[in-house]
Amino acid sequence: MNNIEFPKETIHCQNMIGGNWKTGSGQKIDVYSPYNGKVVGEINSATEAEINAAIELAHEAFKKWSHTPLKERTQVMFNFRQILMRDIDKISNMVSLESGKTLGEAKAGVLKGIEVLEFAISVQNLDQGGKMEVSRGVYCEYRREALGVVASITPFNFPAMVPMWTIPIAIVLGNSYVWKPSEKTPLTSTLIANSLKEAGLPDGVLTVLNGGADVVNGIIDHKHVKAVGFVGSSKIAKLVYQRASNHGKRALCLGGAKNHIVLLPDATPEMAGVGIADSFTGCAGQRCMAASVLLAVGDTSKQIEAIKQRALETTCGDKMGALITKEQYDFLNAAIDEAVKEGATLLLDGRGQKATDKNYEGGYWLGATILDNVNPNSKASKMELFGPVLSIVRVKNISEAMEVENANEYGNACSVFTNNGAMAELVATKAKAGMVGINIGVPVPREPFSFGGINESKFGFGDITGANSLNFWSDIKKVTTKWTMQNDHNWMS
Ligand code: NAD
Repeated sequence: MNNIEFPKETIHCQNMIGGNWKTGSGQKIDVYSPYNGKVVGEINSATEAEINAAIELAHEAFKKWSHTPLKERTQVMFNFRQILMRDIDKISNMVSLESGKTLGEAKAGVLKGIEVLEFAISVQNLDQGGKMEVSRGVYCEYRREALGVVASITPFNFPAMVPMWTIPIAIVLGNSYVWKPSEKTPLTSTLIANSLKEAGLPDGVLTVLNGGADVVNGIIDHKHVKAVGFVGSSKIAKLVYQRASNHGKRALCLGGAKNHIVLLPDATPEMAGVGIADSFTGCAGQRCMAASVLLAVGDTSKQIEAIKQRALETTCGDKMGALITKEQYDFLNAAIDEAVKEGATLLLDGRGQKATDKNYEGGYWLGATILDNVNPNSKASKMELFGPVLSIVRVKNISEAMEVENANEYGNACSVFTNNGAMAELVATKAKAGMVGINIGVPVPREPFSFGGINESKFGFGDITGANSLNFWSDIKKVTTKWTMQNDHNWMS
């Protein structure tokens, strides 16, 4: 059952400025539900004056929050976790309503966000800094300090999870946080911000500003904004990275993906069938970790049949969610046509599939689609399509498979399905990807293992979650101390 609850009236989504909800004075933007194509909400973009006022208040809030002891900041995060668990069904429904995910997928996303929150809660125990007597009576120590106001710009496809990759970590470290949600899926931000307010977060520590590119630029350019986190397409990730870098600000910008799965003839068909089909159909293919290209090595007919059967069962509306917009629906239909014109064969054609539920008529539905014999140089093999479409590229051997994988410009994820440990290790070593899966279709690392790709999938240094994210959201101050004169006074004391 995947019963999405639709709102009785249009949800009016506001900006959170200094802890208060205020309607933006800028352009009105409608929010559509991918489930039925109808308007379910609206935002009014923040204007330049509103952005400036909000960031000034965030800056003021930072002064007190950064000097609140870490243990007290952590208590707010504990409360936040309780509230999210209490309200998880409501939040999941909002995520599904605006992003098109199934309720199960939406809930899984919130839970992954909570996992990052649990990591943030553990920072007080993990991150003890360090102190050492480096000479007689001379001590060096590390102190982790907050940066100030930091910003985060998030994509449509995970309205709760992606923001939750950074909100708990950046805030627990003592920063004030300015969040610009996707204008396609801004509604969940209200629930998350209200949960943090209820948890006891002081006003101004979290700011929510709605809108598009102008709002992003206004935030990046503001003098008080010290660091910019971004998740979205590679084109925009690069733009945001360059803009922030030009101001001398640190930026970590995660981009798009074209993930490959290497399928070897010895892979267990049931495991490959479920793992690979669920990877390319999950979230209707709209996730940066989705399988996109299947590199089928030699005779893998049994495994491909298992993938096809599983994909056939993944019907629209109940087991698979919707595409985000009509434009994306049109783009994918055209991309499938083009792949066929370029010589691919349709092993499974999801075009024209309707949702199982009548309430979802008018939604943007595309059934699972498998293109076979795809030319490795064609668009279907190279371009991020962001839909439930798997392109099978036939290769003779593992070397050819790795050549195709290595030639792709992205570098988010790569998986291999096999029972041969040496082959698995070869793929793990040779793959040009930040995250590798062995018999796992969606190799998202669990916390505290951090999340992040390489190449065109990430601009900037470090990862967005886990231990590797701590240095991005903070500075390390080095303090050297001496209280008494030493007997063996030397060059460094
Ligand atoms: P997008 O790049 O269109 O938008 C992301 C954010 O950028 C939004 O908040 C949007 O308002 C803002 N934006 C749009 N145009 C801008 C501009 N010209 N200047 C400044 N900001 C601008 O991405 P999307 O369509 O919302 O999300 C899907 C993309 O995100 C896919 O490419 C997907 O692979 C990627 N993604 C990557 C990861 C990852 O971890 N690497 C995770 C999730 C999604």
